[in-house]
Amino acid sequence: MKLIPLFTWTGHPFTDAGLVALLLLNDKEKPEELTAEDIKRAVKFASELYARKEWSSGYIHAMMMPNSGILMANPSMAKKRTPEAVENSLLSLLNEPEDENAPICEVCGRRHAREKPVYRSDFPLVGTGGIPNYFPSGKDGANICSHCVFLTQLMPLVAYRLSRILIIHAYPYEFMVELHRDAFDDVVKTQLASNAKNFRRPENFFFHLISDLMRKIEHSELWKNTSVTLYYFVNNNQGQELDVIHIPNQILRFVAYASLVDSSGWKRIVSMGWRKRPSDEEFAEYERRYSNEVYSRLINGQSILRYFIDKTSREVNSKWELLQFYCSEVLGLDEKALEFVKDVGDRVVETLEKLPDNKLKRRVRELENATKLYQFEAFFVGLEKLRQELNIEKPLMTFDEFARILTSYGEDFNVSWKSVKNLLLFRIYEKLHGRLIREEEIGEEETEEVEIYGFGGEEA
Ligand SMILES: [Zn+2]
Repeated sequence: MKLIPLFTWTGHPFTDAGLVALLLLNDKEKPEELTAEDIKRAVKFASELYARKEWSSGYIHAMMMPNSGILMANPSMAKKRTPEAVENSLLSLLNEPEDENAPICEVCGRRHAREKPVYRSDFPLVGTGGIPNYFPSGKDGANICSHCVFLTQLMPLVAYRLSRILIIHAYPYEFMVELHRDAFDDVVKTQLASNAKNFRRPENFFFHLISDLMRKIEHSELWKNTSVTLYYFVNNNQGQELDVIHIPNQILRFVAYASLVDSSGWKRIVSMGWRKRPSDEEFAEYERRYSNEVYSRLINGQSILRYFIDKTSREVNSKWELLQFYCSEVLGLDEKALEFVKDVGDRVVETLEKLPDNKLKRRVRELENATKLYQFEAFFVGLEKLRQELNIEKPLMTFDEFARILTSYGEDFNVSWKSVKNLLLFRIYEKLHGRLIREEEIGEEETEEVEIYGFGGEEA
């Protein structure tokens, strides 16, 4: 006979987090593998911690379930709070009889809800009896069954504690277990809630975690059909706040791929997302403390193409391979279009490398400074002339190609001519960085003179 498992994944971040705790605690992979003994062991483990002040008033009451009666985090219960008392409270919740007349649980849909509506002291963010308009139905509290409330009581064991609480919900659920393993390991090691390696921002921590995981998994395609959402919340007597940050799948795969294929390149790209670029030693500190433009653009679906190159030092930040992955998988540029731009880039390089350093630099700057489409056009027209002067046999582009590079990508948000410009610069910096930098070493004044001379002597 096959028993119906006591707990299943529900898709709700809080109860699923509790299930993650049960699995990690018992070193199991699937809810159906959990036995009654496993559940008792988890309750005992949790109760030992929850009876302590650091957990009770300092964490559960302060951030997650204020005045919790079940976990005895209500300050008035401090004297009676012992591991045994918390354990009994949790077990009696689990064994609470089901009222067949009660509405169906809004979280799992499998059992009848507890007799009384559930409030935020037992389940985060569901309001209190005093604020009935919290729900669209205008009633107070939520209809949640005792099992779902029980699982939620185990959430503190795997949550990450930043300035708010972070729960990383993922599907397939095995990923959620992996993404919270660090938190649970911290709890076992320190007997305190995980401080998320001292990170202050949830998205920074999440991307760091993905990079870490990739070092272990070493297989970026695993993320192919994975969906991840960060729930960043606080639930206490002072306020209840929640940010929901969805991580688009292509972003997840890109960051995983970047960490695997070109981790130093990825680090350089991220470094450019801070106003002041950190040194290698400062990187970890910046990553923990400050919001990063590359991360926020990725999350908000904006292009990060320009971060692949560093215009100040005229170098590329990553391998072409990573840029290629980004363009095709995230920006949706088709492979042929990318190959075409790469090919045009190589022809531009072939032309430019015949120039002396000073003229080479000026031409590149012309492209760098093109902010209007006509300036971008002028760069190619100039280059075509140059090829004739230099007696390069084939033209830079056919008329069709020229039209294609200027117009077929249009002003589309992600793949406009400006994207093409950044791709070309990537190719130029990649191939000619040594020469572009050599020029940089000439003093400021001298550079100026060379340019004036260069301009006058162009026909020569
Ligand atoms: Zn339920």
